[in-house]
Amino acid sequence: MVLAGLGRQLNSALNSFSKAAVVDEKALDALLKDISKALLESDINVKLVGGLRNKVKSRSLKEIKEASASANHQKSKQIVQKAIFDELVALVDPQEEPYKPTKGKTNIIMAVGLQGAGKTTSCTKLAVHYQRKGFKVGLVCADTFRAGAFDQLKQNATKAKIPFYGSYTETDPVAISEAGVQQFKKSKFDVIIVDTSGRHKQEEELFEEMRMISQAVKPHMTVLVMDGAMGQAAESQASAFKESSDFGSIIVTKMDGHAKGGGAISAVAATKTPIIFIGTGENLHDIDTFRPRPFVQQLLG
Ligand code: GDP
Repeated sequence: MVLAGLGRQLNSALNSFSKAAVVDEKALDALLKDISKALLESDINVKLVGGLRNKVKSRSLKEIKEASASANHQKSKQIVQKAIFDELVALVDPQEEPYKPTKGKTNIIMAVGLQGAGKTTSCTKLAVHYQRKGFKVGLVCADTFRAGAFDQLKQNATKAKIPFYGSYTETDPVAISEAGVQQFKKSKFDVIIVDTSGRHKQEEELFEEMRMISQAVKPHMTVLVMDGAMGQAAESQASAFKESSDFGSIIVTKMDGHAKGGGAISAVAATKTPIIFIGTGENLHDIDTFRPRPFVQQLLG
């Protein structure tokens, strides 16, 4: 269950609020305090939480006062609940349309992220997703840093019956990316997904490599693959990748486990980039399309 801990805390705060006999500024502040605590405990950036708190308050306070004057507490509750719902949606919705591949043309997708984030797994999941939609999909393994990366991609791709490209001898990831993309382009593939190297931490060498691959393959969409368990560091990591590889979408992985997810949510706001998919397991079909409103609806049960 995605962000179950946060959902439980938000629900409990909203439930006590809905039972309040009187809705006034004090009751609103108490609710916002509980909501802020829940969001902060989920690793959502403190500035974002403060922003949400202020917006909900400024949006609802005047109407609450008016409704309270006529003792219409039910109306006040609805106003506050709607404001909270809308602001939670705004938190995960940067209002940017992600790139959508079209059939009959070449769509190059490049995945970037730290080692262990789930890039290779997510690339195959993406490939399966687009293949099911009728696209002709190919996978390129440009991860020459991690030993066994090509074997892993090869194994996943073979299992999913997806054509792949990689090399055991070529050590230059730029050369592999170019050659792989060229080969699939020549064979008129619709979607070509390039899996790149990661590192254990952010480092300039990795960002330079991403810049060079990006220049070589000219991706239509670069996707940042980010571990959902990543905490406060997610924001600076995402900003650093944004600068080097200007990604246009985010995949958040491992949301089937105990990931708090708040780091990734903060990364969305910091980079104004939409989440497109959520990884929900180790299998190739464990990928969910991300949509802000249904996500918040599910969160609030
Ligand atoms: P990479 O180094 O970024 O290419 O990461 P991998 O794709 O090799 O993934 C690292 C580990 O995370 C592997 O054991 C994957 O099976 C696991 N993994 C990736 N995505 C998910 C996910 O959505 N849920 C779970 N539970 N595990 C995942």
